[in-house]
Amino acid sequence: MKPKMAGPQKNKGREMENQTRYTDMDSRKKIPVVDIGRCSLCLGCAEVCPSVFRLNDAGYVEVVEMEAYPEDEIDDAIKYCPEDCIEWETLE
Ligand code: SF4
Repeated sequence: MKPKMAGPQKNKGREMENQTRYTDMDSRKKIPVVDIGRCSLCLGCAEVCPSVFRLNDAGYVEVVEMEAYPEDEIDDAIKYCPEDCIEWETLE
């Protein structure tokens, strides 16, 4: 928990807390997930976004672990997935 600021700094401190909250919301990590039960292995996602989606040794599409994901490319993969089995998941 952030230390509370007193006196004239109090309001400024609140603003900062609000900014921090906003930033915290922004920094919630979004990750793409694939429902492999519905995946038809067309590999369209790997074609559209090869840095994120790949076929693993077990023969399933997997999501490469990354610090930050290229949202536009993944949104394209979601849009073009014929089985609608890719979606964003937000981690708290
Ligand atoms: S585009 Fe969809 S159906 Fe095709 S391999 Fe990727 S996740 Fe599976």
